[in-house]
Amino acid sequence: MVTTLSCSACGNEYAAGADEPWRCECGHPLDFSEQPLPDGPAPEFTDIDTRDGLWAFEEFLPVRRVATLGEGFTPLVDADDWNAQFKLDCVFPSGSFKDRGATTTLSRAAELGVETVLEDSSGNAGAAIAQYAARAGIDAEIYVPADAKASKLKAIECAGATPVRIEGSRQDVTDACIEAVENGDGWYASHAWNPAFFAGTMTFALELAAQRDWNVPDAVVTPLGHGTLFLGAYRGFRALLDAGWTDSMPRLLGVQAAGVSPIADGIHADGHVDARNDVADGIQITHPARRDQIVEAIDATDGDAIALDAGSTEAALEKLHRTGFYVEPTSAVAAAGLTAYRDRGSLADDADVVVPLTGSGLKA
Ligand SMILES: [Zn+2]
Repeated sequence: MVTTLSCSACGNEYAAGADEPWRCECGHPLDFSEQPLPDGPAPEFTDIDTRDGLWAFEEFLPVRRVATLGEGFTPLVDADDWNAQFKLDCVFPSGSFKDRGATTTLSRAAELGVETVLEDSSGNAGAAIAQYAARAGIDAEIYVPADAKASKLKAIECAGATPVRIEGSRQDVTDACIEAVENGDGWYASHAWNPAFFAGTMTFALELAAQRDWNVPDAVVTPLGHGTLFLGAYRGFRALLDAGWTDSMPRLLGVQAAGVSPIADGIHADGHVDARNDVADGIQITHPARRDQIVEAIDATDGDAIALDAGSTEAALEKLHRTGFYVEPTSAVAAAGLTAYRDRGSLADDADVVVPLTGSGLKA
């Protein structure tokens, strides 16, 4: 059990527990002060009990297993049509990679004795939090835009969680949720802010390395909104290196939706376009909570972030579907990014690349 949370921006520390703050006084996100690491050497893949799913890596996790649906160890397959490997994170109980963070976040909530969790999302994160709250026997209130589609609310309502409809912009929804957190209405199980969520998404890297016998790829290309998977991957590869289980870091290459691409715009000043990529609506995040950390991860891995339009995302989505990968539209932005990075010459044709497919097409 972790005892301290700390702020990477100002160094402030806070006691961990049911009354811990959801962010630092300075406004930045908090993280667990220590990253647990295993003592021994990396195991042979055949010695890992994959029936434990992502909890096979409990030695790396600052949370004990409570709320689990057997998630993780998603397939890693060769995608010859793309000259890459795909990690099928569309294969999860709620249909997206967000379950990696939901299982650790709700496990920690249960450990802390939390009775109600709050989250703001109308998409995959809301469904994942609702489902794992149901599994943990914890009440969940999910703040959603007033005009959220009925199909998206269904997964939340079916799990017994309460959707709280808020008029206005996506930011208004977040603001209303934070106000409720500040009023003491519940514990903020945010996929953007809660450090337990990122401890869970870290397992993407741990599984991937294990499935490749601890050989890290040259690059990983992921969708980039709040950086839930991007930062999780960074932390996982970093922990593997610190544990001595691997000997290098992959380049981390993010892909944003054109028109809502703050990280890519910061790197490529001339790259911003106004036409919004509404195909990849799952990553349209104007103010990523962990922006500084995302930029650090890019700098530390010789990484990059680019913004892609709706046309290239749709073309990648069609090709994914035709080659057997039935994913939701936002997932396709990473596959489109694989092509774009190669076309721009920033990724060699023979580079060893892994791309996560983050959400199932059955949800769309
Ligand atoms: Zn701070």
